Amino acid sequence: MFVDSYKHKGMRRLMIKALQEKGISDQRVLEAMNEVPRHFFLDSSLDVLAYEDRALEILCKQTISQPSTVAFQTQLLDVSPFQKVLEIGTGSGYQTSVLCKMKARVFTIERFKPLHNSAQIMFDVLKVSPQCFFGDGYLGLPAFAPFDRILITCAAPSIPKVLVNQLKVGGVMVAPIGEESQIMYRIQKNSDSEIDIQSYGEFKFVPMLKERKFC
Ligand code: SAH
Repeated sequence: MFVDSYKHKGMRRLMIKALQEKGISDQRVLEAMNEVPRHFFLDSSLDVLAYEDRALEILCKQTISQPSTVAFQTQLLDVSPFQKVLEIGTGSGYQTSVLCKMKARVFTIERFKPLHNSAQIMFDVLKVSPQCFFGDGYLGLPAFAPFDRILITCAAPSIPKVLVNQLKVGGVMVAPIGEESQIMYRIQKNSDSEIDIQSYGEFKFVPMLKERKFC
């Protein structure tokens, strides 16, 4: 059922080349994205579009982020092997799989049950093992904190303080912040009372909403 043909592999290499031309230079990110067949995460009717640089619809009217956004966020996150990474918004599981291929220890939260369930099927197919949670990402995962890295893949209206509290000192959070459109922030936690914020241009994400849903 999940076939990664020569044609798919070829399209994926072209996608990687396009990402390099757009300024993605971190080899670890490029290699991980070359290892994850993005078309596995999409309805088969979207197969031909899977390697174009566009966001596409998944279950529950959510979207898989466009490849350049995944690459940009992952490069900003600057993940090393064995680091503990919390992802808010499992969605299709594509970004989660990229982080797993970079050998991070990934904890991921999704508020929609059907997405939470279908992503886990993909993790089995790709033989990656993130810890998956059905819940409200605004609450984070206090029982597993602190994290080296936190990645938010939906649009938060402001920097979620609860999540900053779950970051290690020296840790980094990457998050799109804003209502209509968002600014990408890289937030570094310098001490328990001080954060350093850098901004990286405008993006468009589905909103981060409270409470769990069944679609
Ligand atoms: N990383 C995903 C992107 C999915 S879009 C991928 O690679 O496919 C963002 C996801 O965030 C959606 O699935 C949405 O349901 C989820 N989301 C929104 N608010 C959330 C919250 N409070 N907690 C957990 N997930 C949330």
